[in-house]
Amino acid sequence: MALTGVQIYKFLPKTNCKECGFPTCLSFAMKLAQRATELGACPYVSDEAKSNLEAASRPPVRLVTVGVGEKKIEVGNEVVLFRHEKTFVHPAGLVLRVKDSDADAVAKAKEAAAYSVERVGINMYLDGIAIENDSKDAAKFAKLAADVKAATDVALILMSSDTAAMKAALEKVGEDKPLIYAATADNADAMIELAKKYSCPLAVYGNGLQEVADLTEQAAKAGVEDLVIDPATRGYADSLDALTQIRRLAIKKSFVALGYPVITFPGEGAESIDDEAMLAGMHIAKYASIIVLDNFSPAVAYPLLTARLNIYTDPQKPIQMAAGVYPLGDPKADSVLCVTTNFSLTYFSIAGELENSGYPSHLLVCDTEGLSVLTAWAAGKFDAEKIAKAVKEFKLPDTLSHKKIILPGGVAVLKGDLEDELPDWEILVGPREAMAIGSYLKQNWS
Ligand code: SF4
Repeated sequence: MALTGVQIYKFLPKTNCKECGFPTCLSFAMKLAQRATELGACPYVSDEAKSNLEAASRPPVRLVTVGVGEKKIEVGNEVVLFRHEKTFVHPAGLVLRVKDSDADAVAKAKEAAAYSVERVGINMYLDGIAIENDSKDAAKFAKLAADVKAATDVALILMSSDTAAMKAALEKVGEDKPLIYAATADNADAMIELAKKYSCPLAVYGNGLQEVADLTEQAAKAGVEDLVIDPATRGYADSLDALTQIRRLAIKKSFVALGYPVITFPGEGAESIDDEAMLAGMHIAKYASIIVLDNFSPAVAYPLLTARLNIYTDPQKPIQMAAGVYPLGDPKADSVLCVTTNFSLTYFSIAGELENSGYPSHLLVCDTEGLSVLTAWAAGKFDAEKIAKAVKEFKLPDTLSHKKIILPGGVAVLKGDLEDELPDWEILVGPREAMAIGSYLKQNWS
């Protein structure tokens, strides 16, 4: 039973020290009751209070790990319905399904696992391979699991309703903690035993939320709590309805039996690869934790990874670059110097254009708390004083043989103030758009 804010408050130290990030213990207690923060944020809670507050501090969606090592998938631990309330925490894992009846299964798994793409300085890649026992042959299934494990370094999902085939595959790859998919009303006891024996997470598949809840309660009672749920709904409307109900019941009603990450299969019933990709995109937004794709191509993977990156960033904290001077194209002391803000998208737009311009450049990045040029200027976080301070802090007068700096065209208004701050420098006003930097430099830089 969830506790109210006032009930939680009684267990807190009541010193209002603010170390948890809230102004008072009471405001922390209220947020904890709403699951908008975690008990661990207060370093002064006694062990006795901790045990009393366990129910209140348990995340409404359990954190579940699939796989081991650097590329393990961590899903769940979400505490809000809408990302603007706090943030979504653990990005949905994107996984490719291969079948043991397909002679090219290993090659397909290898290709998908090797795919990676960089965006705003973040390396994005697919998270796992799901291996399906389509052949119904236990030995074939186990061999493919072993071969995929040898050929890739990503997390694995083993898909079979046959417990003998699952056991054979677990003997080959169980130490890698794959997700066992799935326990059903027909095989639950045996699948739960396998999950216990190999300490692996277990997916449960039920027709409807009640059957899923019954299965999770059965598994939890047997000691298997790292669970992932599949409510067996496919398609747009049905899966949106089921996934939303699961998330709402877990977060708003503290319904523990559905407080687990959800796995989806957008390719099942999809009419085309595009259809599968669109449904996967919807599942990224609401509310899948692991999405198993039936088709891989960079043209599908890149937009899905980008959508996931956008959904799983903290809306209150833009993706930022560290302040500093970034060399682009092996610049020398007499090379171009531009200045911009530390909003990642701004940085990468300008850096890309400078690299393509053929002019080796220094790009001075000012700390504007992740705001773009015009927003930072309007908020008073990107002004002449800050730019002049950065020029001195990063010792540009010592490392450059010239004293010329190019301002973004959108803040041409700073030119006069910057001339006052840096009286012996020439202040140039660049173009308003990053894409015009190349032609601007051709005409203006000598
Ligand atoms: S850190 Fe703990 S003691 Fe300090 S204000 Fe927050 S809840 Fe109170």
